[in-house]
Amino acid sequence: MLSIRSINVFYGAIHALKDVSVEVEQGEIVAIIGSNGAGKSTLLRTISGLLRPRTGEIDFKGSPIHTVPAHEIVNLGISHSPEGRRIFTNMSVQENLQLGAFTRAKGDPEIEADMEKALTRFPRLRERFKQNAGTLSGGEQQMLAIGRALMSRPSLLLLDEPSLGLAPNLVAEIFNIVLDLNKEGCTVLLVEQNANRALEVAHRAYVLETGTIVLSDTGKALLANPKVKEAYLGG
Ligand code: ATP
Repeated sequence: MLSIRSINVFYGAIHALKDVSVEVEQGEIVAIIGSNGAGKSTLLRTISGLLRPRTGEIDFKGSPIHTVPAHEIVNLGISHSPEGRRIFTNMSVQENLQLGAFTRAKGDPEIEADMEKALTRFPRLRERFKQNAGTLSGGEQQMLAIGRALMSRPSLLLLDEPSLGLAPNLVAEIFNIVLDLNKEGCTVLLVEQNANRALEVAHRAYVLETGTIVLSDTGKALLANPKVKEAYLGG
């Protein structure tokens, strides 16, 4: 579904991704794990067209997307829930969800149906529908960020650190939501510092270190890998 071949991405002189290649098959949950500054967010931003690779290619469903504008990439079926959630805190929950559908035709009757689906999936958002998003708790804001990303009807969902800063019970809830979305047919590329949980839910995963992929295997195999255990799973 997604084929990233040997991309190099820079911020000015900083070489953030070095010859990175990643494959995601339809129906998979694929995780990218790595420590702070490894380049995980940079990878997702490059897939969604916010950054451009200097060299290398990205294909989605067989067509190149690394030169396609970001809003068109959303229309092709890739949606990005960014690190830090980036919700609009002075807008209501309803308005944030509506913004997730901004690339769809105005008045599309199915937008309402998808909003209803999001509110059924995240009942707390229904309770807070007219409230400013800035008044939501961290976990609720994360649910809003995921709900907003789903409003473009993605076939591939990019999730950046969905569990960051959340209490353990909410972390479990977020990972259950990821599993549910995947069961419903959504392919997921997940970036996480919470390597344990990410490797438990992922079919396959890649380890990114200072801009380079150093390992890739099934989630299960990486959980058992001594190097991964020592570096990312707390020994
Ligand atoms: P974190 O979880 O801390 O965000 P990450 O693995 O997502 O880590 P990135 O945010 O992708 O890492 O950063 C990769 C590298 O690129 C780091 O060296 C970082 O300092 C650098 N970088 C990221 N964003 C920018 C930017 N806007 N300008 C310059 N350098 C940047």
